[in-house]
Amino acid sequence: MFSLKQWQGNAKWENWVGYVKAQPENKLTPSSIEEIQLIVKQARLAKKRIRVTGAAHSFSGCAKPEEIAISLHNMRGLISVDKEEQLVTLYAGTYLHEIGDALREHGLALENMGDVQAQTIAGAASTATHGTGITLGSVANQVVAWEWVDGKGELHTQDRGDPKTDELGNALHASLGMLGIFTKLTLKVVALYGLKESNERLEFEQGLANFHYMAQSHRHMEWFLFPGTNKLQQKTLTVIPHKAMKRGQKIKDNFESIVMLNGAFYLLSEMARFNPKWTKLVSQISANSIPNTFREGYCYEVFPTPRGVKFNETEYFIKLSDFEACIKEVNDILLINNKNSHFPIEVRTHKGETGMLSPTQGVDCAVLSFHVYKGMDCEPLFQWVYDYMKKWQGRPHWGKVNKLNSAELKALYPQMDRFLQIREYYDPDKVFMNSWLEQKFLT
Ligand SMILES: Cc1cc2nc3c(=O)[nH]c(=O)nc-3n(C[C@H](O)[C@H](O)[C@H](O)COP(=O)(O)OP(=O)(O)OC[C@H]3O[C@@H](n4cnc5c(N)ncnc54)[C@H](O)[C@@H]3O)c2cc1C
Repeated sequence: MFSLKQWQGNAKWENWVGYVKAQPENKLTPSSIEEIQLIVKQARLAKKRIRVTGAAHSFSGCAKPEEIAISLHNMRGLISVDKEEQLVTLYAGTYLHEIGDALREHGLALENMGDVQAQTIAGAASTATHGTGITLGSVANQVVAWEWVDGKGELHTQDRGDPKTDELGNALHASLGMLGIFTKLTLKVVALYGLKESNERLEFEQGLANFHYMAQSHRHMEWFLFPGTNKLQQKTLTVIPHKAMKRGQKIKDNFESIVMLNGAFYLLSEMARFNPKWTKLVSQISANSIPNTFREGYCYEVFPTPRGVKFNETEYFIKLSDFEACIKEVNDILLINNKNSHFPIEVRTHKGETGMLSPTQGVDCAVLSFHVYKGMDCEPLFQWVYDYMKKWQGRPHWGKVNKLNSAELKALYPQMDRFLQIREYYDPDKVFMNSWLEQKFLT
């Protein structure tokens, strides 16, 4: 979890895995909208650039603060709840792990969540952080109103209109902080629900034969495909009446997280790091250890899984209709050469969205995530993924390692030019750019 004390106490800045590093001149923690406006106005006059840190959980350079870093740690919490309309307004700095309990008190819940809940709501919305579910969108898709301070220090609000015509809403949807600093976000939420999670080990062909059926017949379904093994873990989540996770389950989860994740998988990963030739063996041991498990509780207790072993990640969205051909080829290629990777490839599904920079813009997608253990060379896997995904016009996750240049990205995002015109209007002096964003958008 993000620690403000650590963030402030260290002159350096780094992301979760520690690969993106910066030495900002200032780290600021405003407590009000007026303070944010003043910071932006002064930065603009002094020609300094600002990046907001959510929880620094992006693997890409999108949050890297090169001059001024801001944390909205002091601007957190639930501002208002409209139970009837199922709308909630949150301060932008609220961490996802703070939202579940706060909404439960009103009988409400987030529609969908990702693997972890350390991120802030604004950071997650800005990169279109997602979970899995063929009928479900990203965190950004749950946002129905934005309040933000632009690059001139002016405060704006926007309610999401008809996605077919609401250009500004579609620009704000996944905007990586390029239109300004979000101060409040209003989300469409749903009635509180419970989830039952089931995990089982399958042979690749067995999983593939039922992939579409399983994705359609469960609210959430995902795979963890172990490279070079022809085996996968299939995880499904089904809705059940809401009830708290039992204490025994929480203790078991904690134990498994300490012993399996931080213990056994850490030791196996260290083995792989010591000798990358052992990655295939490690992947095989991990695949053979997949247990058949069940857990249930409130949705927000079941969604997140602790990630005790650090890794770097790249992720691509491809058309759902291309999934079978693509994953078959990926599995075949990794059976021959696992590219020194032993972390499972995560496979999820995602409903198409309308955001100008949404990786699922206009099309339902399958999402493939590739991980490399911290301390191991990412290049063999990530370079191969980058080259290979061109074949499927894969769009990269903005918060994960992304090797594409601006021309390649423009070809994948038909509304990129319009997005950049809107960016120019709200931030003409590029207060909110950093070198990573310039490389992706302005070169
Ligand atoms: C262990 C782990 C698990 C993950 N699991 C998933 C997953 O399941 N699904 C998924 O899609 N992604 C996942 N991610 C990626 C992560 O969700 C995204 O990168 C997310 O953006 C990180 O949120 P953050 O709050 O840490 O924001 P940061 O990474 O700090 O910032 C992200 C972007 O948002 C901007 N930003 C932050 N706050 C504001 C604000 N108030 N106003 C304007 N801009 C702002 C930043 O400047 C930056 O451009 C995971 C990452 C990690 C490390």
